[in-house]
Amino acid sequence: MSAPPAFPFDNTYARDLPGFYVRCQPATVASPRLLFFNRELAQELKLDCAALDGPQGAGVFAGNTVPEGADPLAQAYAGHQFGGFSPQLGDGRALLLGEVIDRRGQRRDIALKGSGRTPFSRGGDGKAAVGPMLREVLIGEAMHALGIPTTRALAVAATGETVERELPLPGAVLTRVAASHLRVGTFEFFAARDDLERLRQLADYTIARHDPDLVGTPDRYVALLRRVAERQAALVAQWMNIGFIHGVMNTDNMTISGETIDYGPCAFIEAYDPQAVFSSIDHGGRYAYGNQPLIARWNLARLGEALLPLIAEDMTEAGIEKALGQATEVIDAFPDWYARALLAGQRAKLGLQRATADDDPADTALAEDWLALLHAQAVDFTLGWRRLADAAEGDEAALRGLFQAPQALEPWLGRWRERCASEDAAAPDGTGRAARMRRVNPWVIPRNHRVEEALAAATHDDDLGPFQQLLAALRRPYEETPENTPYAEPAPSDVTACYQTF
Ligand code: AMP
Ligand code: MG
Ligand code: MG
Repeated sequence: MSAPPAFPFDNTYARDLPGFYVRCQPATVASPRLLFFNRELAQELKLDCAALDGPQGAGVFAGNTVPEGADPLAQAYAGHQFGGFSPQLGDGRALLLGEVIDRRGQRRDIALKGSGRTPFSRGGDGKAAVGPMLREVLIGEAMHALGIPTTRALAVAATGETVERELPLPGAVLTRVAASHLRVGTFEFFAARDDLERLRQLADYTIARHDPDLVGTPDRYVALLRRVAERQAALVAQWMNIGFIHGVMNTDNMTISGETIDYGPCAFIEAYDPQAVFSSIDHGGRYAYGNQPLIARWNLARLGEALLPLIAEDMTEAGIEKALGQATEVIDAFPDWYARALLAGQRAKLGLQRATADDDPADTALAEDWLALLHAQAVDFTLGWRRLADAAEGDEAALRGLFQAPQALEPWLGRWRERCASEDAAAPDGTGRAARMRRVNPWVIPRNHRVEEALAAATHDDDLGPFQQLLAALRRPYEETPENTPYAEPAPSDVTACYQTF
């Protein structure tokens, strides 16, 4: 009797969507070696951990062995990159191996990234380097631990080969898990070709996969747009409340599922600054921290345009006019959905539970004035929030210590205390205010200098120790322990001032 396959694949994309991809095999590499294996995630996916966490897994995760049941393919997609439309991007260095159903019954994609050239590679080599792939592990696992929807790394395998970048670098392949790899750009690909039949097929596939309650409903295409917009409003609000800058919010990097994807030039802010940009290629600051909600809406407008021929019942002037109105209504509602999600998150961070419409304007002002104080005094965003939790217990010294001119904080603190006093301090389950605040205001985030330090050791010294220690801290972001504390310290300000991502 043969062993069951290590991956229980069930590949709907390959089966149901011919014409949406190109079948393609991963490149064979010199000497696969497993650098990272995510056991917890593998168990969630019902994979055979014993078989995969070792030399056999190294072969699979480097692309040398295509596992039983996989059907590797490069997905077609287009995208608006920095505002300009590219009608054909597609997986230039990634391959979808297939899908599995996880322990919660959710379908998840398993894909390789850095597994060699595909028909979509254009001038690229199809490869990836160890540093950026381990970076995906660190940031993705941090986001997951912070409760933010994200694609996740299942494994990273070194290839034993060199990739040519500005400097020669050790090569690696990442295995990425996603609710799906459907993007705004997937819709743009078929819309730009006026391929209405495939566009409809794609939308129906997407609805069945992500919003099955909409299957067969009369207004399902505009409802899909609305769902995607609602998920993105919630996601970007979470990014903003944690200080995350995606860095390359092109429409090909915006998922339909609402998961964060593509941890390339991303970074976390240290001092609070809406204009913060770290990406070396973002010269105009299009994807600056504070621009992210606007860009999300802009991207959703591109999705709305792509879906328009489906939203329209007929292509008469009246039909198009009506569809435009329906799509516009969604795009115009986005800022409000975003503002609500942001405020809900801010209330929790401020230790507040009551959330009535009557309180909205004052609570919004309370949050905005707090952020203005952090901005004016260049206070570390993460520590500022965390020390506010101490203040909820009456210990205000550490909070004051973060401010250059702490007296400016006093009037605001007075307003906050008064607002806190207007409601119960304890939650229905008995949790006090400070404890609640410490569950949503992390002590440890992936500080840029710590991430770089860990990647440099892995890349240049073949030393995974700093990566593993940082990963352990990032997986317990809310715990203020001696092991975690070194990772909570901000970078020296001169380091942050010239920090760049690529
Ligand atoms: P990204 O900016 O990472 O979202 O990538 C944009 C596009 O460039 C996608 O179509 C990628 O597949 C492609 N791409 C990025 N890096 C490479 C590479 N090294 N080789 C081939 N294609 C690549
Ligand atoms: Mg991408
Ligand atoms: Mg990328």
